[in-house]
Amino acid sequence: MSLIEMNKKYLRSAADKINLDPNLLKILERPMRVLEVSIPLVKDNGEVEVFTGYRCQYNDARGPTKGGVRYHPNVTKDEIITLAALMTWKCALVDLPYGGAKGGIICDPTKLSEKELERLTRRYTVEIIHLLGPHIDIPAPDVFTTSKNMAWIMDTFSMMKGYTEPSIVTGKPEVLGGSKGRKEATGRGVAIVTRELFKALNKNLRGAKVAVQGFGNVGSHAALFLSQMGAKIVAVSDITGALVNEDGFSAQELIGCVEKYGCLEGYNKGKKIPRDELLYLDVDVLIPAALENQIHSENAGKIKAKIIIEGANAPTTPEANELLSKKGIYVVPDILANSGGVIVSHLEWVQALSGLYWEEEEVIKHLEKKLVKSFKEVWKKSKEFNVSLREASYIVALQRIAEVYHYRGIFP
Ligand code: GLU
Repeated sequence: MSLIEMNKKYLRSAADKINLDPNLLKILERPMRVLEVSIPLVKDNGEVEVFTGYRCQYNDARGPTKGGVRYHPNVTKDEIITLAALMTWKCALVDLPYGGAKGGIICDPTKLSEKELERLTRRYTVEIIHLLGPHIDIPAPDVFTTSKNMAWIMDTFSMMKGYTEPSIVTGKPEVLGGSKGRKEATGRGVAIVTRELFKALNKNLRGAKVAVQGFGNVGSHAALFLSQMGAKIVAVSDITGALVNEDGFSAQELIGCVEKYGCLEGYNKGKKIPRDELLYLDVDVLIPAALENQIHSENAGKIKAKIIIEGANAPTTPEANELLSKKGIYVVPDILANSGGVIVSHLEWVQALSGLYWEEEEVIKHLEKKLVKSFKEVWKKSKEFNVSLREASYIVALQRIAEVYHYRGIFP
């Protein structure tokens, strides 16, 4: 099943449960706007390479569109549309005044120099600038983009407009109006929803065994906060391989290794295992925090974890989702599990718009409150409709979007 079909499947199934107006479903099944751009880049050696980029604004009924920009060789238009749809459901689910968007460039950022990345980012920004604005569409980091890319987007937008506009992106450096706690927010959110699920199931998180697939910004911070909550990080992986340590890793040390060497390869305190094996370990919690389609119909049957927390977007295919559901595995879906990032992005936007900046404790307090409330709503909905946490999440999101359409109507 393609990603586009996956989105429609989850949407239709939730729409069916709440008897959504079929006319509204017709609107929500399609993206509002998709832009494809060519991005010429003068490489450091003088050669010109032309890249393809996208920005999709899926739906803006609830507010300006919001979502990250990813740099990856496997970016496709359909992937960007689907991820923009996920942002729409995610923002509605956690009740942010935003619609959903996503952008991306088909490129391998590891093969570009810093200067090339800067020129690529600045030219991409100019190519999509007529779609951007603090009240139109606000980009953020995603796979292989960081606060540095956001600084270039912010500067390019500001230079083109002739004034400094900090609220045009989120996830930017703090000196440019970024928020305290934004970098850690997605991983912190993953840990918070894990804790809430354990509470709801009357289980003890202390000593629970956790495997984390992907040790980028999301996976590493999820590991850090979960270990602070008493869980044991027994397995981690990144593109260079996977490591197991039954006694539990020090997340702090692993992060230190990645900061120093750029990957987990240099770390020598665990046993090396084949990368895919991490998914099949006998652990309590599995956190896919890498890319899409990691858990699919061929490998879902081998998963032993009883709880899956989707740190990445769309890491589970719909076929696998059904298999896991039948096995009684709890899956906290991406749109809830990784919503901590966009929750703090919203706080960053509010701070930048108002020019009033908050202490980290305040940011964390807001994030906690929003996530705990959203988790409880989803949990309650799942009981009310007797559905999985994914379906319940889509139901909460759709009900919220439907309510907005009820008042706004369909223009003209
Ligand atoms: N890229 C992140 C996501 O998928 C964050 C988006 C944002 O903060 O706007 O949720």
